[in-house]
Amino acid sequence: NAGTVIIGAGQAGLSCAAELRRRKYDGPVTLIGAEPHLPYQRPPLSKAYLSGEMPVERLWLKPEAFYPASDIACLTNIRVTAIDRETREAVLADGQRIGFEHCVIATGGEARIPPIPGANLPGVEVLRNLGEADHLSAALKSAQSLAVIGAGYIGLEVAASARKRGLAVTVLEAAERPMARTASPILGGWFGAIHRGYGVDLRVSTPVSSIIEKDGRAAGVLLANGETVQADCILLAAGLAINTGLAEAAGLECGDGILVDAACRTSDPSIFACGDVARFHSALYGRSIRLESVQNAIEQGKAVAAAITGAEVNYDPVPWFWSDQYALKLQIAGLIEGADSIVRRGDPEMGSFAVFHIKEGRIIACEAVNSAPEYMAAQKLIGSGKTVDPEALRNLDVAMRDLLA
Ligand code: FAD
Repeated sequence: NAGTVIIGAGQAGLSCAAELRRRKYDGPVTLIGAEPHLPYQRPPLSKAYLSGEMPVERLWLKPEAFYPASDIACLTNIRVTAIDRETREAVLADGQRIGFEHCVIATGGEARIPPIPGANLPGVEVLRNLGEADHLSAALKSAQSLAVIGAGYIGLEVAASARKRGLAVTVLEAAERPMARTASPILGGWFGAIHRGYGVDLRVSTPVSSIIEKDGRAAGVLLANGETVQADCILLAAGLAINTGLAEAAGLECGDGILVDAACRTSDPSIFACGDVARFHSALYGRSIRLESVQNAIEQGKAVAAAITGAEVNYDPVPWFWSDQYALKLQIAGLIEGADSIVRRGDPEMGSFAVFHIKEGRIIACEAVNSAPEYMAAQKLIGSGKTVDPEALRNLDVAMRDLLA
């Protein structure tokens, strides 16, 4: 057994490596990461770590001793530059070649840089990795004001963290509401109002034209409507550019993600992909999807390990995701697209409510704010496909667990 080479030492890559050992896989396991760190969790980078409430030690997904103890060779600070499918080797930046029987691509992505003039100026930050989080954090320390371009989860979480640190914050969003890509209008509008309540100058339907330069540094943002926003620090929070380059160069099928089957295999049956970079068919939603979440990275990484060790795998999860902003815990189960009706349970005024998205009588998604029971029940109901009575769902006197019965 020439073993398994896992490219990308992030959440998905580590999950796959650990699960291989848990399943008593006896070949060599090599986990290769371009970053200088052992695998760590990214969610706190825009939340508790950025606001200074979490020390760096708490980011590591496993202690250093885990890797030798589990016989996982974790190479950091080195990039895989090619996958040689003929010789079955991963080629590293230093020329080293590591042979494999199975290869796993878990390369995630980088912060997407939108095509805005001035986006490369000093003073313009992005946030995907720990190095960038430390850079942003240092920049925020000496700044009085922050402009965030993009009101997705990361942009809004950084806005909340920066408000906690006392900065004046402006958020600029081209769409007509925050979190427009993944959350419903009710939820996006509600979160927008919350941010404004905390003093964020949130401007929607506000495309950006360019970054303003002063003395060789970014000093603000010019908006398409001609207005300017002054800021000492600017964060581009414009989504993810996934790392499909290696897979494409190796001739694997790609299309907004590396295409994988139900067992997470690419178009080459000895090469797998998982995490943010993988696109798969969801039988549950009847379409091809790609998920950017910790849950998917962990579960799909495990699914790959199961497939490599010969188990029958049909990866078809109920997606879930969370976001923390101020004291609010948002949990989303399922995908909202395709719903034919909406049921609201609880009162947004009270800061705790859930929005259920229904298609043909079944819940396909739930957005829950400080409402863990609703969220947990929804996950089960989405998975089971059980029809629900909208009146009962709306009625706070009916316990969520009674809807599961
Ligand atoms: P990654 O974690 O990106 O790991 C991929 C690794 O591969 C990287 O370290 C990269 O350097 C490495 N790599 C790439 N190319 C190569 C190469 N050629 N050779 C070697 N190594 C390579 N998700 C949630 O569910 N909830 C949240 O609240 C949440 N908050 C987030 C906040 C922030 C600031 C960020 C950035 C993400 C957040 N996410 C959240 C998303 C979540 O972190 C990702 O979905 C998850 O990390 C994906 O894991 P992955 O292993 O697929 O990719």
